[in-house]
Amino acid sequence: MYRSILFPTDFSEMADKSLNYIEQLKGSGCREVVLLHVINLRIIDGLMRHGAMEEQLAQWERKAREVAEESLVMMKKRLELKGLAVKLMIKRGYPSHVILDVEKQVRPSLIVVGSHGRSNISDMLLGSVSDRVIRKSRYPVLVVKRDEQI
Ligand code: ATP
Ligand code: MN
Repeated sequence: MYRSILFPTDFSEMADKSLNYIEQLKGSGCREVVLLHVINLRIIDGLMRHGAMEEQLAQWERKAREVAEESLVMMKKRLELKGLAVKLMIKRGYPSHVILDVEKQVRPSLIVVGSHGRSNISDMLLGSVSDRVIRKSRYPVLVVKRDEQI
């Protein structure tokens, strides 16, 4: 039922909690996990609007890619220890667009997303990326919720 999972992550604090759920899904037949990080063009757009030079943008992107690679490799090791096969993807674009493109290619049994990400605004029920993925995805989506602050 949950043979392959697509997990898009922005490495926010929800990622760790999401990995716990993915590990548990092994018991429900999960074999393969695709870990996807999108280098966010929205951030690059913002930096450009604030007058960042081309070299600064390139440097930001190199750093983002390097951090993403390290973080994805750590996640991969953790899931492999549980006996799951893991594939890593780093892409560049607008996160929800890329996630919806990748799902067409990967055809996962399930998508796992955090309800929120790095912005984690307290009044929002969902972040904009999770909102769009839940609305538009053709596949079942497991939304891992943040710990609610009361
Ligand atoms: P917003 O970005 O709208 O200000 P937010 O950062 O709190 O709000 P989202 O960005 O929607 O919330 O994040 C929700 C989930 O979407 C994340 O937990 C993650 O699973 C996925 N996600 C968000 N950004 C990315 C990204 N750049 N690459 C891969 N997955 C992402
Ligand atoms: Mn976000």
